[in-house]
Amino acid sequence: MSMKASQRAFERACRFIPGGVNSPVRAFGGVDRGPVFIERAAGSHIWDIDGNEYIDYVGSWGPMILGHAHPLVVESVCRAAVKGTSFGAATEAEIGLAERITNAFGSIRKVRLVSSGTEAVMTAVRLARAYAGRDLVVKMAGCYHGHSDFMLAGAGSGAAEFGVPASAGVPAGFAEKTLVVPYNDTEAVKYLFQRYSGQIAAVIVEPIAANMGVIAPADGYLQSLRQLCNDHGSVLILDEVITGFRVAYGGAQELYGIEADLTCLGKIVGGGLPCAAVGGREEIMDLLAPLGPVYQAGTLSGNPLAVAAANATLDLLAEKEVYGQLERVSGRLEAGLRKSAATAGAEVTINRVGSLLSIFFTAGPVRNFEEVRRSDIGRFKRFFSRMLEAGIYLAPSAYEAMFICLAHTESDIEQTLEAGYNALRETGIK
Ligand SMILES: *Cc1c(COP(=O)(O)O)cnc(C)c1O
Repeated sequence: MSMKASQRAFERACRFIPGGVNSPVRAFGGVDRGPVFIERAAGSHIWDIDGNEYIDYVGSWGPMILGHAHPLVVESVCRAAVKGTSFGAATEAEIGLAERITNAFGSIRKVRLVSSGTEAVMTAVRLARAYAGRDLVVKMAGCYHGHSDFMLAGAGSGAAEFGVPASAGVPAGFAEKTLVVPYNDTEAVKYLFQRYSGQIAAVIVEPIAANMGVIAPADGYLQSLRQLCNDHGSVLILDEVITGFRVAYGGAQELYGIEADLTCLGKIVGGGLPCAAVGGREEIMDLLAPLGPVYQAGTLSGNPLAVAAANATLDLLAEKEVYGQLERVSGRLEAGLRKSAATAGAEVTINRVGSLLSIFFTAGPVRNFEEVRRSDIGRFKRFFSRMLEAGIYLAPSAYEAMFICLAHTESDIEQTLEAGYNALRETGIK
């Protein structure tokens, strides 16, 4: 498999773009090899500029649940484009998207469109603080909520629960406003509510963690967070940027029967274009400018092309059999991988919720970030390379999910399992 064109492109890109990429994970730094440059994609397949073809399990990190270049989405975007790509003024199509979102999520009465998941979270946190009149926010270690200053806080050392900057350039004083506890640990959150009584504005969580690999919420975990927020007058923010419209049309909230005060959406909700959303209870959402005192704005918010892609995507997902099909295909992939791992004698843990799947190179169980970090990264890197060379495009990072889409076929899954068996036999054994 030649990667010469990608190698040349990467060298050229590095002269003009820091690290050669516009988002760090694309540099393939986590897998000790140069990145693949993409030429085009269709359905479940993606082609690099050397002409190599892959079965894609990244799906642009989640948005492409219909597969790439779905004809109805493309047509919808093209129709919008000829009428003008941006006006910076209100359009009727935005109302259509807002209606679709509020119909999908019982907890969302009003919604504002933004351009990225990062912005959705930033706005949700600002709203929660304004509503509660408090500053502190609780987040779970290993959950990702975009790259705003307050959310780039990691767990400090020892018993200290105040976050420490997870990036240079984040003021320590910002990170300290974020309290970091392990995922799936209700007692830790309970303790924080006692210790910082009357100071916690919000708890933010990925209802299914999917940015440290995939981790399902333990039984009752989300319900406990809901109850604690109710008891203490805090805002529950569910970051459904990955799970919204993926694990069910109404996201993890539909799947687990829970309601957020504020919900962050992104990825799928933009249908592969830059669109995201924050929505929730009316009394909180109405704090936003121009009605209320919480400032938020965006030149390209509700962009006509993005909204066209979003509306077309959500209409296709609203069809009944969609999530059953995703579950069937994903279940087959999971079962096949488990069988391969057992036959090959590979020590791995496979976590899956719906069309989100992770292979951790550790005996498991994997229920939080500490357990994720027991993964053998060396084995993952070798597994990744074998798979890539066999034409299977996985996320170039040990802590990212596989995204199954509606375009993945039986033969895609079979080809993936064959490659998976060989790769696990060669790299899965400790
Ligand atoms: C991707 C992601 C974000 C950030 O979204 P961007 O559009 O990349 O800014 C926030 N939260 C979660 C859970 C995500 O997966």
